[in-house]
Amino acid sequence: MYLTDIVVVGDIVEFDLNKDGTGFIHKIHKRRNYLSRKAPRIKGAGYRGERLEQVVAANIDELFVVSSVSEPDFNNKVVDRFLVTGESSHIKVNIIINKTDLDIENSVHWWADLYSSIGYKVFLTSAVNKYGLGDLKNELSNKICLLWGHSGVGKSSILNKIYPELNLKTGSISSFTDKGTHTTVTAEMIKVEHGTYIIDTPGIREIEPYGIRKEDLGHYFPEFLPHINECKFNTCTHHHEPGCAVMEAVEEDKISPYRYESYLKMLETIEEDIIFK
Ligand code: GDP
Ligand code: ZN
Repeated sequence: MYLTDIVVVGDIVEFDLNKDGTGFIHKIHKRRNYLSRKAPRIKGAGYRGERLEQVVAANIDELFVVSSVSEPDFNNKVVDRFLVTGESSHIKVNIIINKTDLDIENSVHWWADLYSSIGYKVFLTSAVNKYGLGDLKNELSNKICLLWGHSGVGKSSILNKIYPELNLKTGSISSFTDKGTHTTVTAEMIKVEHGTYIIDTPGIREIEPYGIRKEDLGHYFPEFLPHINECKFNTCTHHHEPGCAVMEAVEEDKISPYRYESYLKMLETIEEDIIFK
């Protein structure tokens, strides 16, 4: 844990305020949930050891994984990585696929159907022609929500269109000079309406879930769950083991090969980290 993680955005605290405007936090309430990730490696430090947990925000009602049709192109593996992070933090996760105005071939509906069939709520939106923003606004209402996704997918544009008074900066090309350090994360919670709060995490561009063991990763792919108990070994990583019910389900088209590929890709990165330790 970093020192900066003692209090994060979303924490409920009790404090005394002094006359001069300074204050003293004397109690931090227990977190209902929190979202964390592996802290980025420190650039130039030549450090390949254990990566610490970095808490991004606490007490979140719903997480929205934001992606776009293009600019940047839709990347299901990136979406899956964000989804696993949310699932492993036990937070309800939804998906936004933005920039549908650029979807000339209507290709993105295929992905929306896949994720819907798994049980995720998928919001197809366009900040340009406002498509889908009404439904999204309803979902955000009366909650503490965090919109999360790579830079450039349109998070700020969507929020500005839904809540015009917000006036968030958009289209900014993020500086790469501080990439890889953890000091750039300056998240804040913004009250957008009575009872509705948005957590903005402008500093976060990359994501790797923290503290997931190989044999647990499958639990964060909800459509694997009905099959996992049927695997021959209870430590099955659904990779090579005989009698694996997940691999069988992929072969029988009950699990999408795209999701299974994502799973294998993530499994690989977990294995690498263990070797580093
Ligand atoms: P953020 O980094 O996720 O907050 O993304 P921004 O809101 O800053 O948007 C990045 C760029 O994408 C800007 O140039 C926006 O004008 C553009 N953009 C955002 N939403 C849409 C959309 O729905 N359609 C199109 N065509 N462009 C969009
Ligand atoms: Zn298995």
